[in-house]
Amino acid sequence: MTYNKKTIEDIDVAGKKVLVRCDFNVPLKDGVITSDKRIIGALPTIKYLLDNGAKVILCSHMGKPHSIFTEGFGLTKKEKAKVEALPAEEQAAAKAELLTKALDDKKKFTLKPVADRLNELLDGKVTFAEDIVGPDAQAKVAALKAGEAVLIENVRFDARETKNGADFAKELASFAEVYVNDAFGSAHRAHASTAGVADYLPAVCGYLIQKEISIMGKALADPARPFVAILGGAKVSDKIGVINNLIEKVDTLIIGGGMAYTFFKANGHDVGTSLCEEDKIDLAKELVAKAEAKGVKFLIPVDNRIGREYDENTECKVTDSDNIPSDWMGLDIGPKTEELFANAIKGAGTVVWNGPMGVSEWKNFASGTNAVAKAVAESGAISIIGGGDSAAAVEKLGYADKMTHISTGGGASLEFLEGKTLPGIACLLDK
Ligand code: AMP
Repeated sequence: MTYNKKTIEDIDVAGKKVLVRCDFNVPLKDGVITSDKRIIGALPTIKYLLDNGAKVILCSHMGKPHSIFTEGFGLTKKEKAKVEALPAEEQAAAKAELLTKALDDKKKFTLKPVADRLNELLDGKVTFAEDIVGPDAQAKVAALKAGEAVLIENVRFDARETKNGADFAKELASFAEVYVNDAFGSAHRAHASTAGVADYLPAVCGYLIQKEISIMGKALADPARPFVAILGGAKVSDKIGVINNLIEKVDTLIIGGGMAYTFFKANGHDVGTSLCEEDKIDLAKELVAKAEAKGVKFLIPVDNRIGREYDENTECKVTDSDNIPSDWMGLDIGPKTEELFANAIKGAGTVVWNGPMGVSEWKNFASGTNAVAKAVAESGAISIIGGGDSAAAVEKLGYADKMTHISTGGGASLEFLEGKTLPGIACLLDK
């Protein structure tokens, strides 16, 4: 899917109220932000709008709170059914318990700390509304002057957000004259604030989404060659769509991580107690055959770091892929494979990488992921790193500035690489 969408620079924003969907889903510990990377990432779009005289209404989700606004009495349909199945005398207490949970989540997932940090970064231009589309938000939006912003409360406090409720989308849209989506990490979801609002307002993308779609779109449509894709992570089943789509486009496909063991089994090797999806073995064979038919080089590990059990401190050793003992499990690629993969990455024109080569959270099984990060950083290729564990490894090792692009959305970038339509982008105006 290639997108050519209008951006904030293609639309007049001076003096206009502009609703901006950001990704402020930042990590918090006891109400304190532990990384403001996502807030910093959103600044170019917000600054452009403020500098160009817009009145900016910012919105975002944070975590997965229990929603407050729901049918009947603050309950979702499922909860309502559960409560109503209880004996009559227990129903009131069950409802109250759920409501209390929702109110607790309201404290836990408030965007107030984000508003405070934004206000520091933007010289006091940002206020916070304690509701989403309620009286406080309405008053603060009405009072906005050109060059000022208000962050409204967590859109997921309202159950209509994730259901893409038309009335909620309309209420959000009524605040503004223009809608800007800059939340790439949520663009694969058709929610009210990520897609629904675009039914009621002219909609364009911010700089973050623009960068994601231009770099990834170019890599898929017209890549500098050789084009190498590296896929890792736990399961084949999560990545089938990506493998299928990328086989059509790449010159080399590298498979590591837990998903490699299903391919080993497809080759007739014993995988011991490694992760293996028995019901995907035939599919693995088909994918290998498809790669062969297309002339795509298909690389899987030739050796592995294996452990006795799934434990950080388990005894570990290296074996070849056709020699995994029946009571051991593969937890990382081995040294020969690191070299094999690094050689395939060297000289690439474009590299796309999604997913770790092993259980990279554990230091004894992080070597493969680190080696791939190093090889990609040193390759000189256009390098695109999917979110999640691969992005974390790149950042931890200090290679972030050597990469062309580190995606701001793991799930969304995977769906993009699968060739799926992303609702939060498809809804924006074409150039
Ligand atoms: P994903 O979210 O699909 O990218 O998968 C990431 C997860 O895969 C990480 O939490 C890793 O610990 C896990 N993983 C990678 N390799 C293996 C392996 N060989 N065995 C078990 N888990 C693995």
